[in-house]
Amino acid sequence: MFSNTDQFLKDFQTIVNIDSSSDHLPGIEAVARFFQQRLSAIGFKAEILFQGDTKVPCLQAVFGSGNSPDSEHIPEYDLMFLGHMDTVFPFGEVDKRQFSIQGDKALGPGVCDMKGGLLVVLHVLETLKKEGAMDKMSLCVAFNGDEETGSEASKEWIKGTAKKSRRVFVFEPCRPGYKMVSQRKGGGWFYVTATGKESHAGADPEKGINAVVELANQIVAIDALNDPNTGTSAQVTVVAGGDKVNIIPNKAVASVDVRIERLEEKQRVETFFNTLCERPVLPGSKILVQGNIDRPPMEITPQSQALLDIIFLEGKKIGINVSSISTGGCSDGNFTSALGTPTIDGMGLVGANSHRQDEYVELASIPVMVNLISNVCKNLM
Ligand SMILES: [Zn+2]
Repeated sequence: MFSNTDQFLKDFQTIVNIDSSSDHLPGIEAVARFFQQRLSAIGFKAEILFQGDTKVPCLQAVFGSGNSPDSEHIPEYDLMFLGHMDTVFPFGEVDKRQFSIQGDKALGPGVCDMKGGLLVVLHVLETLKKEGAMDKMSLCVAFNGDEETGSEASKEWIKGTAKKSRRVFVFEPCRPGYKMVSQRKGGGWFYVTATGKESHAGADPEKGINAVVELANQIVAIDALNDPNTGTSAQVTVVAGGDKVNIIPNKAVASVDVRIERLEEKQRVETFFNTLCERPVLPGSKILVQGNIDRPPMEITPQSQALLDIIFLEGKKIGINVSSISTGGCSDGNFTSALGTPTIDGMGLVGANSHRQDEYVELASIPVMVNLISNVCKNLM
């Protein structure tokens, strides 16, 4: 059983005070080195991979059968621990507000999203090692350094690792009241451009084709995609068109934020946008669409529900009423879940206000989450 909250807090101060803004790669690498050292000390084969053209530092640490260098078969991990080391704040944020403890909360950049979660992983593994419970397990830790900017460089590595794993735990923050995340919406952005023909609005209106009017018609059609029954939303969020009050505009552009709850909606929505060019309303106008749904939804499956049931049961055993929620926000769990690997998210520390200065975690959740996840791991093996 884990009881060393003091050591956790010491580690917490160390890694929160390393500035690992998404655009500060040396800081991300320093966080990776911290975990590389600690995980190596308990028998993991830990290395830092530099992903993509931008060479984003990512930590990969494996234990068990995946650890054998001469193993012929593809390593299979019982469990993949997934998290991100970057924070959303600009470089320099840590100098302005260092890690601090106020009352029953810890504060600082990334304390909730998600350095607390990374430390839950480390302390769970150190606890399992100390108890001799890890010997039969085959585990993989994957911490990327570009989640807050869309995981462009690390996405394929994450998916490849998830394919070799039987289940994935994602350590984004747990919601207050011990609510984990079992469903996340997927989504993407679309950009719709209508082209018409410029003309004097007063003298020659019949010679013009009004791109703003064309786009307005398309916006009404796009708005009809919203369907609470399927959980799909399509919100036109930015519109631009026209230049002078007496000129019929020849160009107008709309940006659309799309979210889907179900994977089958991806095709319906993408087909809608990809065929918009065939349905201009004003004769002579043209429509161009760019964009796609690049994050599949994280859906609840019988397998992920079975995992949740184990987590709820282990929660009860330590006197915590764990539940799960669905959210509109995306995480790397969207990618792993879409591959069919059962994925549970929100397994980090309990906290709130991610991406804001008043972000915090509840100190009381440190021993609770470390013990809960350790017990869940033991239950699964
Ligand atoms: Zn996050």
